[in-house]
Amino acid sequence: MPLETNAPVAVTLRPHPRAVEGDRDEVSRASMPTTGPLLDRYGRVHDDLRISVTDRCNLRCVYCMPDVGMTFLPQNALLSFDEIVRVAGVAASLGVTALRLTGGEPLVRKGLVSLISRLSGVGFRDLSLTTNGMLLTPLAASLADAGLTRVNVSCDSLRDDRFTSIRRRGNLATVLASMDAAEAAGLSPLKVNVVILRGVNDDEILNFAAFARDTGRVVRFIEFMPLDAQGQWDKTQLVAGREVFERVSQQWPLEAIEPGGSAPAERFRFADGHGEIGLISSVTQPFCGTCNRLRLTSDGAFRNCLFSDDELSVREVIRGGGGDAEIAELLRRSVWAKFPGHAINEPDFLRPTRSMSMIGG
Ligand code: SAM
Ligand code: SF4
Repeated sequence: MPLETNAPVAVTLRPHPRAVEGDRDEVSRASMPTTGPLLDRYGRVHDDLRISVTDRCNLRCVYCMPDVGMTFLPQNALLSFDEIVRVAGVAASLGVTALRLTGGEPLVRKGLVSLISRLSGVGFRDLSLTTNGMLLTPLAASLADAGLTRVNVSCDSLRDDRFTSIRRRGNLATVLASMDAAEAAGLSPLKVNVVILRGVNDDEILNFAAFARDTGRVVRFIEFMPLDAQGQWDKTQLVAGREVFERVSQQWPLEAIEPGGSAPAERFRFADGHGEIGLISSVTQPFCGTCNRLRLTSDGAFRNCLFSDDELSVREVIRGGGGDAEIAELLRRSVWAKFPGHAINEPDFLRPTRSMSMIGG
């Protein structure tokens, strides 16, 4: 199995590789709108917020964390539920309509059902959760009752032994049962996130396509991104979305589904009407031009891109006694400072300092 290392993961934030000295000041001095939707300098409107509620996890997926040696935030560094709800309320007042909770593993944070209930009261069109599924079954009905609209469940293999070797802990049966429980609770359409790694699970592409056809669940094939905490990403392990498309469509012809918004997945239906798949080709076909996403890390930083270390701490604003207007201004500044796109495919690309589970995937 590739990507093995147990070295402790240290974090020191540094400027975005494309930032020049003074750039952040310049960005904040520029003519940033103070009313209307969350607009960046390239005209992109941001209405989708991902909130990480914890950096901790009960699994250790090979493409995300080392088996041992991961360091986690102390409890008091995390935003409290009151703080999260407050920031979410400000975001909603600035036009955010979709909210996704993530992590780490969001369901390891105690009291998540009550948080969902409070966020549901804020009034989002779409309130969703990304989970590894290990703790979902007993919570599915209460999460739905609390106002959760749908879930994405991650599952990288349909083979028992391989599932456990990729995710290092947990087991396939529990995750498959959690998908049934989620659907029974009305959390649908259910999406299944699959990270395809060359030589690890790329022989299961057709099995996952068949799974989508048999179950009606939307399987989303995700390209491996340079966001593993071990820092061992390299392109040879990545399987491009294009290759997934070709392999699936040779077996079952696919038809493109017209994009209905800014979703990162390219969507395809099976031409015979049996289900749908999605391709998230963040590396080989970046969707930065239509990106509408913002992130709030579990330690309370606004982050405008997975691949940029440019973070602004709303926790400091809140704990320093700042009001909602200051939170709103910080959010606007974060969006305004966003770069036109990531630079993964450019020679000067520097991996972000924080990894996927620390940012919130
Ligand atoms: N723990 C939850 C889970 O696994 O679904 C939520 C957080 S996880 C960081 C969110 C998504 O990011 C998962 O679907 C996971 O497979 C994906 N992911 C994690 N590391 C990745 C990487 N290096 N490249 C691509 N996707 C990754
Ligand atoms: Fe945990 Fe999700 Fe990362 Fe896997 S991908 S280690 S389940 S946070």
